[in-house]
This record gives sequence, structure tokens and C-alpha cells, in this order.
Amino acid sequence: MRRVVLITGAAGGIGSAIALELAQKGYDIVLNYFRSEKKAFELQEEIRDRYDVNCLAIQADVSKEEAVDAMLEQIEKELGGVDILVNNAGIDMPDLFRNKDAESFRRILDVNVVGAFNCAKRVSAHMEEKKYGRIVNIASTNGINTYYPMCFDYDASKAALISLTHNLAVQFAPYVHVNAIAPGFIGTEKELEGYDEQFLKEETEKILVKRYGKPEEVASLVSFLISEDADFINNTVIRIDGGQMGSC
Ligand code: NAP
Repeated sequence: MRRVVLITGAAGGIGSAIALELAQKGYDIVLNYFRSEKKAFELQEEIRDRYDVNCLAIQADVSKEEAVDAMLEQIEKELGGVDILVNNAGIDMPDLFRNKDAESFRRILDVNVVGAFNCAKRVSAHMEEKKYGRIVNIASTNGINTYYPMCFDYDASKAALISLTHNLAVQFAPYVHVNAIAPGFIGTEKELEGYDEQFLKEETEKILVKRYGKPEEVASLVSFLISEDADFINNTVIRIDGGQMGSC
């Protein structure tokens, strides 16, 4: 029986790499997207063309319970339910600290933390009934020891996502395993476009291997964590950051 994987934010840089890697491994794939409809459907087509798996693209704002509910109803109808959830959707709105306000802080927490909670809560009944489930939360080194006041809200959300990971692992034990991955600097197109050369050079200097990570490297780690080889890994956070030094 093929496992069904739901990847949130699947049209993005890391999400699409995860979707392609897991499709190649033979999982059925649900691509959740929010605004990137065109990219999501192009990816759906690519996966259907290249791999012999089911693939569905479904729009939902993960921060909204009713939207997550509607997405899961469609998945249950078409594919039977979600066995593996990758909470990858995330937003960041870097800005000078003085320009930050409570509304943008709340939105970041809503998507990055409440969104992961909404999806985990909604898929957990099926997982517990099947006595099998894997949840991987894509956190960040920013939730551990990397601090930028320009994205203090993002950093707080990723620290909260790590805390949520541990609580969900306790709540859903023993059959559903919940782990987090904390990537450091991953050179997605968007990430590289968003910063000037000097900043990128300084950031690379803080990484022991002296390069950014690739989305495909995060995807490989997700693939390992949901494989049988990782069956004894639960309730943990794995950094993938090239040996990045903390900064503030
Ligand atoms: P990205 O390309 O911006 O992808 C993030 C995706 O999240 C977007 O495709 C977006 O979907 C989706 N999203 C945003 N709001 C949503 C909502 N309300 N509901 C559903 N989906 C929503 O960024 P990325 O670099 O691939 O990041 C993926 C994850 O890795 C994020 O959680 C990020 O925090 C984490 N991370 C990234 C890095 C890095 O260096 N790139 C480092 C550490 C952690 P639409 O495009 O469809 O709107």
C-alpha cells in the first residue's frame, strides 16, 4: 500500500524539492499551495508525467481551520487520508524592528505555528486509527540560536514550532512520530534574490562548510525521516545547516 504525503507550501523552493524527492520514492503526493496556483499545477503535472504515483494540488490557507478541513475532506475522498504530513508552509516578513507591528507578528505565528497545529490535529485521527503516522515540521535554526531582530517574529514562530513538535510527539505516541528539521541558510531562488551580495557573503562566512544548503538536501533528510530506517527517531530536532555558527 502506497503512503500518502501531504506537503504544505509545496509550490515553494523547499516544498517543491520535497515533493519531487518523495514522488521519486513512490509516495502519493498532495501539494498544498496558498497563492502559487500556477506553480502548484505545473508541479502536479511534472510529478504525474515523471512518476507512477497519484498527485493532487489543493489550495488552502493552513492558518484557517475551515480551509484545512476542506482540504482534508478532499484528500480523504480521493486518496483515503494522510499518512505523512510535512508542515513546510512558512512566511517571513523581514523589516526594521521599529516598523514591526502586532498584526504582522500574529500573521506569522498564525501561518507558521497555528497552521502546523491545524494540519497535525486534522490528520491525527486517521493516523491514530491506522496506528501509523509521521509528521515532519520544517522549523529553522532561527528557532534555536540564530537571531535577527529584523525577523524576531519569524524566529519566535520557529521556536514555537519546535515546542509544538515535542508536545505533538508526546500527544500522538506511540504510533505517530513527530520530528522537526531546522535548516540553516538554504539557497532557494527566492532566498538568493532577497538579499544583497555583501549579506550573502557574510552569511556564508558563518557556515563551516562555506556554502548554502540546497533544497534537495533538506528533501533528502525529510525522505530519510519518514523512511523505515528512521523508525527509532521521534521527538527530536535535526539541524541541517552546514555547521552554521549562531549569530545575533
Ligand atoms: P518559500 O519558497 O517562500 O515557500 C514557503 C511556502 O509557504 C510558499 O510556497 C507559500 O505558498 C507557503 N505558504 C505561505 N503562507 C501559507 C498559508 N497561509 N497557507 C499555506 N501555505 C502557505 O520558502 P522556502 O524557503 O521554500 O521555505 C519553506 C520552509 O522552510 C518554510 O517554513 C521556511 O520557514 C523554512 N526554512 C527555509 C529556510 C531557507 O533558507 N530557505 C531556512 C530555514 C527554514 P504559496 O507560494 O502557494 O503562497
